Amino acid sequence: MSYMALNSRYDKMIYNRCGNSGLKLPAISLGLWHNFGDNDSFENSRLLVQKAFDLGITHFDLANNYGPPEGSAEENLGRILKMDLAPYRDEMVISTKAGYYMWPGPYGDWGSKKYLTASLDKSLHRMGLDYVDVFYHHRPDPNTPLEETMNTLDLMVRQGKALYIGLSNYKAEDTQMAVSILKKLGTPFVISQVSYSLLNRWIEEKLQQVLVDEGIGTIAFIPLAQGLLTNKYLKGIPVDSRAAGTSKFLSSKDITEEKLKKIYTLNEIAKERGQSLAQMGLAWVLREGKVTSALIGASKVSQLEENVAALDNLEFTIEELKKIEEALI
Ligand code: NDP
Repeated sequence: MSYMALNSRYDKMIYNRCGNSGLKLPAISLGLWHNFGDNDSFENSRLLVQKAFDLGITHFDLANNYGPPEGSAEENLGRILKMDLAPYRDEMVISTKAGYYMWPGPYGDWGSKKYLTASLDKSLHRMGLDYVDVFYHHRPDPNTPLEETMNTLDLMVRQGKALYIGLSNYKAEDTQMAVSILKKLGTPFVISQVSYSLLNRWIEEKLQQVLVDEGIGTIAFIPLAQGLLTNKYLKGIPVDSRAAGTSKFLSSKDITEEKLKKIYTLNEIAKERGQSLAQMGLAWVLREGKVTSALIGASKVSQLEENVAALDNLEFTIEELKKIEEALI
């Protein structure tokens, strides 16, 4: 059956300006790190992308290595675009990245011009795209001169292969140095992709202020701590959860008593607000407008619906914020 996007898709979503740039991003974006590889059901991946778009999620985040196997999430998105969403390409913001291991030998990892150039070309080919909206360097490379990496990102924009540039997992100092190079080059560095959630607040110490001062947007990844900040692990580990599956990144060992104690208390605070824990977790990440978009993952369409409904209540009372701080100690 051919897909037609819902006419109501823009009715409820909030679109936030990405730093000082002209680009707007949905308050909730969808990442294709898990659930979009060749080991996952293609029909489910397809439904997730369709449903996300129908809910106003215009931004889809990828990386060269998402799968498994590496590259397959981009290939599957390419198939979904061809089958369903190609007519809507100008309504979508698609990002990809390079910076982690992708192929053997000295040119398939980190931040050299050699690696990044080849990787973006391969990503475009897998997705069947002429350009990505945002290309990220996925992590800082301590051994390649920052100038080389930044010059390569600048070149990608000049070649028309990326519209905007982002950096991911760059700390405050790395970001500041990158900004000074990219400003001189006139490169549209508009977004920083960083981990941030109720259980992981490292950006608050320094980086967040740098991004605000420099007018760079923030997209928060793993905002639900891979599912821990939902009600799914409150009564054990469900068989269809990430922790019970084959993910290398979350296992039962990560669900500690210490974390569960916090999660139970947070769940009670969420209930008092009339929200699920997932909804409160996302609202909290987006509070005060410092974060442009919360970059979620989802394995089920129902999770997308629940998570987008977080936008119905993004306000926190001082009392609620105090209770949350106490729960996190
Ligand atoms: P989340 O913290 O949002 O976790 C998503 C997972 O939580 C889902 O797959 C699902 O897992 C569970 N979940 C989501 N919503 C609900 C709900 N309402 N109720 C119950 N369970 C729910 O993010 P991810 O860890 O998936 O990461 C999101 C994105 O961030 C990635 O796709 C990627 O784009 C980006 N990222 C970037 C990195 C970087 O270095 N730049 C690193 C990591 C991620 P389940 O299978 O258990 O149902």
